[in-house]
Amino acid sequence: MPHHPDCIFCKIIAGQAPAVRVHEDEHTLSFMDIRPASPGHLLVISKDHYPNLFEIEDAALSAVTLASRRLARAMQRALQPAGLRLAQFNGAPAGQTVFHYHVHLVPIYDGQPVGSHGRHLAEPAQLAELAARIRAALE
Ligand code: AMP
Ligand code: ZN
Repeated sequence: MPHHPDCIFCKIIAGQAPAVRVHEDEHTLSFMDIRPASPGHLLVISKDHYPNLFEIEDAALSAVTLASRRLARAMQRALQPAGLRLAQFNGAPAGQTVFHYHVHLVPIYDGQPVGSHGRHLAEPAQLAELAARIRAALE
């Protein structure tokens, strides 16, 4: 599916909007969520623009899922959270705010309750530090 001119995630893929990138491969890009629900919260997106789970094609869905597992393992090694949540929202009533298919990877730390979305913009330096730690733990 072609890139969508008004989509912020398509702009990030094209290098036309900033993001703290963690990893990319042929079909996916992973970067830190700008409003993290917890420290280390990242997003895995398809490089092609599909609005949601209903429309994404098999190859893109498979690539995002496999990249999510790889990133999840790296996060587990790097951040040692108590657990790790995957979340994915379809449609505004379900909580979707960016209509380009993506999966949230949210580390869960003991004693720290986590909502579905963060409220506050993260410090860029803190995002960069977390991204570097996760990247270093990729296999
Ligand atoms: P969703 O509700 O699943 O559509 O979530 C979209 C997520 O994208 C939210 O958690 C936002 O904080 C995050 N987000 C939106 N714009 C950006 C951006 N430019 N860079 C990084 N994360 C973003
Ligand atoms: Zn897009």
